[in-house]
Amino acid sequence: MHIETRDQLAAIPDPAAGPEVYRQHARQWLRANLPDHMRADSLDYRTPTLEESRAWEAAMYHAGLAGMTWPTAYGGHGLTLREHLAVNKEIGAQPMPESVSSIGKELAGPIIMTVGTEAQKEAFLPAILAMREYWCQGFSEPDAGSDLARLRTRAVQEGGHWRINGQKIWTSGAAKAHYCLLLTRTGTVADKHRGLLMFAVPMNTPGIRVVPIKSIDGKESFAEVFFDDVVVPDSARLGAPDEGWNAAIRVLSIERATNRMYRPWRFECELRHLVSACKSDAQLARLLDDGYTQRRVGDVACEIDALKGLVETTVSRLMAGESIGARGSLTKLYWSECHQAFAGLALSLMSHVTPHSSLQARRARKAFSTAYLFSRAETIYAGTSEVQLDVIAQRILNLPKDLT
Ligand SMILES: Cc1cc2nc3c(=O)[nH]c(=O)nc-3n(C[C@H](O)[C@H](O)[C@H](O)COP(=O)(O)OP(=O)(O)OC[C@H]3O[C@@H](n4cnc5c(N)ncnc54)[C@H](O)[C@@H]3O)c2cc1C
Repeated sequence: MHIETRDQLAAIPDPAAGPEVYRQHARQWLRANLPDHMRADSLDYRTPTLEESRAWEAAMYHAGLAGMTWPTAYGGHGLTLREHLAVNKEIGAQPMPESVSSIGKELAGPIIMTVGTEAQKEAFLPAILAMREYWCQGFSEPDAGSDLARLRTRAVQEGGHWRINGQKIWTSGAAKAHYCLLLTRTGTVADKHRGLLMFAVPMNTPGIRVVPIKSIDGKESFAEVFFDDVVVPDSARLGAPDEGWNAAIRVLSIERATNRMYRPWRFECELRHLVSACKSDAQLARLLDDGYTQRRVGDVACEIDALKGLVETTVSRLMAGESIGARGSLTKLYWSECHQAFAGLALSLMSHVTPHSSLQARRARKAFSTAYLFSRAETIYAGTSEVQLDVIAQRILNLPKDLT
């Protein structure tokens, strides 16, 4: 695989060039460099290895396509959300693999920038951008998912260090992670939101045990993580004791409102792939002539357009200095339901693929079956649809709690 080097920095537009110039730069670079075997719509596609994904994302960073809004002091490009969005539109438009480091780049990095010490920022941020270190997010527990404030993993201070005991579950990427963004409690469960504390815990600390969980698509991308007398220095603490809940809410707000901003452009790219796969086969092409199918495709196209509007509005509001707060739930609900509806449509079309269908259609069937299974998880992680509806009802529409 061809990997760009730091020399590519010369090609990165001047920070004053504006979002449109960045968008063109991203489009040209991605089209020229995305290998065929990483393009989901290519007949040469194969699932990239972790190392291939790492090398690809490191190359993207060196080409100026990651860390757009991060300060230059920590390896970022010191730009605004407008350039970030411009680049993300082009990232979405290419059928490329999902990031293998989105928890580091989109969740851990921003919260370290907000609550971390100078030493923590210098230690963690450049390593995340350069793809040297992966992170996982240790929030959910067997009895604390939607109601995160019920978490029980305990951190007890003993002199200059902390002793951690407990269990996390559904921890994505735990097996490959170098660090865990860990949410713990210092008091009792009855304290609820008080007494929560966040840590950056090295995953190779003695006492940490990772037990992979196999999901319906056969992958083992998340895990249970057990903490048995795990001892970390006070310097692993992210933020002050008692600041954990606010930090966790910030992380959830990013997760719901602004991370993977490329989604509607990626969904559009997937829709193009689906239509092209159908057109590649005479029998499937006939399905596209059907009025019912056309209305469903039209519905998906409208939803994708509306989602683009939601993302653009979020960026405008943030650029104007407004906070997104509960409105992040609108975005989370909308993208996950929109993609699940699209994946359902794709699966129903692909169910007509037979061993005699075109090679492109047979390849697409495999890709869209996997996408369908994963779309079932999309209305769960980062907060379930029911929870987003509660937030919208109570915090945006101010409806009384007992009517929801
Ligand atoms: C693919 C995937 C990856 C994940 N990755 C991570 C990760 O990296 N790190 C991490 O910490 N967690 C992760 N999670 C966990 C995820 O955040 C939780 O699954 C989610 O918050 C729901 O919690 P739960 O599974 O405990 O379900 P529960 O909270 O037990 O919910 C069960 C059901 O009850 C409903 N429900 C709960 N409360 C309410 C309410 N107040 N009103 C109406 N309905 C309600 C829910 O909608 C759901 O249908 C991941 C999950 C998935 C599926």
